[in-house]
Parts: sequence; structure tokens; C-alpha cells
Amino acid sequence: EAHLERIERLEPHLHAFITVMADVARAQAREADRRIAAGEATALTGIPVALKDILCTVDAPTTAASKILRNYQSPYDATVVRRLREQGAVFVGKTNTDEFAMGSSTENSAFFVTRNPWDLNRVPGGSSGGSAAAVAAGEAILALGSDTGGSIRQPAGFCGVVGVKPTYGRVSRYGLLAFASSLDQIGPFARSVADAAVLLEAISGRDPNDSTSVDLPVPSYVDALGQDIRGMRIGIAREYQVEGVDPEVERVVQAAITELERLGAELVEVSLPHTSYALATYYIIAPAEASANLARYDGVKYGLSIQEDTLLEDYLQTRGQGFGPEVKRRIMLGTYALSSGYYDAYYVKAQKVRTLIKRDFDEAFEKVDVIAGPTSPTVAFGIGERVDDPIQMYLADIFTIPANMAGIPGVAIPCGFAHGMPVSLQLLGRAFDEATVLRVAHAYE
Ligand code: GLN
Repeated sequence: EAHLERIERLEPHLHAFITVMADVARAQAREADRRIAAGEATALTGIPVALKDILCTVDAPTTAASKILRNYQSPYDATVVRRLREQGAVFVGKTNTDEFAMGSSTENSAFFVTRNPWDLNRVPGGSSGGSAAAVAAGEAILALGSDTGGSIRQPAGFCGVVGVKPTYGRVSRYGLLAFASSLDQIGPFARSVADAAVLLEAISGRDPNDSTSVDLPVPSYVDALGQDIRGMRIGIAREYQVEGVDPEVERVVQAAITELERLGAELVEVSLPHTSYALATYYIIAPAEASANLARYDGVKYGLSIQEDTLLEDYLQTRGQGFGPEVKRRIMLGTYALSSGYYDAYYVKAQKVRTLIKRDFDEAFEKVDVIAGPTSPTVAFGIGERVDDPIQMYLADIFTIPANMAGIPGVAIPCGFAHGMPVSLQLLGRAFDEATVLRVAHAYE
């Protein structure tokens, strides 16, 4: 009830939620009370959780913040949703996002912009900006988002909360509306590393419904947290000291890295020479996959359906009116990159560079346990500031995208303030070694 009241009070200012699930939440809370009384509670029983509105739920619409899915009702739960439901979590609502998770500010939502709780004139980041804002503002204790190129870590950083992108394959993507299937991962938002660890543990592990989810044991992330970090080797990437990083942000992140050293870690310089190609590679691969994934929204099977005289006209009108401008831009970029004559020059080339980016990390992780640096080059920017300049918008993800290309895990944790706004430290780790990344994050926190 406290969270629902807070949602009611703050939502007129924040707009973090597309759908508030008050009735569902109350019913789940009553059931949680019963479980707690019966001694059947887990760490998540009765905990208010917000869900990015790109995760399928049987008891609320799933819109992807798109007109094409405005009234779409999924007949099944995403696997992560089902797992939380089984643990007795309470779903307070579905959070705003850039349309189909394409964006870095939630300004690409077809419905409204979410505001940053620290400064209502700034963006919360994106695409999982609603989830980040909801947790930062105390509208939920935990939230789930998805991270294809930074969409958990960047908004977590902009809103001053913890965000985790798990290793590709760690968490089932079943029931996550697909954007770029080889990059997408679902992960937690929380106000502490310990809370994030609880949520990550609950959603991780093999799922027969997602053939890319990996059959590896899920360690207790919570148990990993107690240990100190003396003697651990922390990589500082030369290539992350690039131009365009706000000097104030740089100073705060540097102080956080010095703190890791004070805690007993050894700082080691590493090189990730293909970093400068990550953004360009991402903007071939992600749109290519998106153009294929979004072909299913044709007005026949799901959501918006505009009936014209011919089937082709139905498709054109449904997609023309249903998709927003950024989604159309991605579909056109992706279709172009995949088309005959350009496929080898763009798509195949991008896949090769992707391999080189992954190799950079493989080599670096032979020398170090984690890599530390800024999550984003700036603090949250003003609403409207970058909408007319997609390149500037894309640059917000320069430090987060390499981890998606390589499939490795990353954590964003608050590490101070610049210009009165939260600054975030990003820690990257070896594939399937979320435990070490969380342990360093927790030691710092
Ligand atoms: N901002 C990036 C994009 O627009 C990443 C989005 C994401 O991670 N979902 O594609």
C-alpha cells in the first residue's frame, strides 16, 4: 500500500509507468501475507517489483511503448515474470521504455517521456528509463529491464541506482519482446548491490523455452558479496579515456577507482583496441536483427490492425501508423545492411569486428578479474536536448555497448555526483562470472 500510494503521488510528475497494476499487486500482496504466515516466504515474497513493459505478463498489457501494441495482451508470462510470481513477488506495474527498447532516454516512447527523479527536466536514460526512475523514486523496491546496448546500465547510472546486465545466456529471454536477439539480456535494477544480487539469482538459469539460455549452475550471488577484494586485479582500459567524457564525470569515476585500490585491489592497465568500432558495429548488427524481429508486427497476428483493400495495404498502413520514427529508422538501416549487395560489406564485416571486440575482452580478462570505468560519458542530459541528433543520442552508449557485443556481464553502481546528478561506475567481468563483478561492486558500495 505504501508503494501504491507513492506511485499515485509521484506519477503525475515522473511518468515512470505505462500501466499501474494496483489490483494485481494487492492480490499478490495478500497471497504474500499468507505465505509469510505459513512460513513459505522467499527473499522476494511480498517485494514490490516493477517490470519493463517489454516483458510479457498475463495480467497486464505489454505494449513495448509502441502504438502497434497499445492494447496487446499476452497469453503467457515471460519466464522471468513467472519465476518472480512463483517466489511471491508483487508486481506494481509495467514501466515506460523507448519504443521496442530503441533509445537512450525514453523519449522514443510512443506515449510519454519519463522524468529523472533527481531533476524533472532531465531524462532518466533509456531504454529502461521507467524501471530506473521507479526504483530511484521509491515507487518499487526492485525492477527488471532489458539491456541490448546499455539499456539497464545507462539508465541505472542516470538515476543513481544499481543495474546489472547479466552474461548473454544467463537469463532466459522467453517472453521478452525481441529487439536484437543476439544482444538482448534481462536484468535487475535495485537500490543496493545486495538487492540486485537477490533478484539476479531468482531470474538466472537454464530455461527450455530459450535455447540460448545456458545450462550452467547458478551460484549464490548473495553469498559472493561478503568477501573483500584484496589482491584482485582491476583493469583500467586505455581506450575508455576518450574525448567527450565530461571532466567532472571523469574525476568522480577516477576517485571511485582510487577507492577500489584503497580497498586492496591492484589496478592494471589493459587495452581494448577495437572499442572505437563498437558503436558503429552495434548500429549495423542491432538494426539488422531488429528489422527481422519486427517483421512479425504486420497487423495480422498481434496488436494494431488497420484493414484496407489489399493485404499489402493492410501491412503498409499498420506498420506505417503503428511504428514511431526511431523504430522505422532502425528497420530501414537493418534492411539496408542485410540487403543483397550490401550484406557482405556491412553485416558480415560487422560480425567480424564483433569477434575482434570479444577477443579484446578475452585477452584483457587473462590479466584482470574485472574492468572498471565510467558507465556513461556524461550525467543525464536535458529532455529534448538530443532528440534531433541521433548520433549524439547513440554516443550515450559508447561504454556500455562493448559488453553486449562480447556477451559479458556488467554492473553499474552509483559512485558520486557531478553537476548535481548521479555518476555511475561500470564494472565488467568474465562471461558467467557475475559473482566476481557483484563482489567488487558490493565491496565498493
Ligand atoms: N540505446 C541503445 C539503442 O538505442 C541501446 C538500447 C538497449 O540497450 N535496449 O539501441
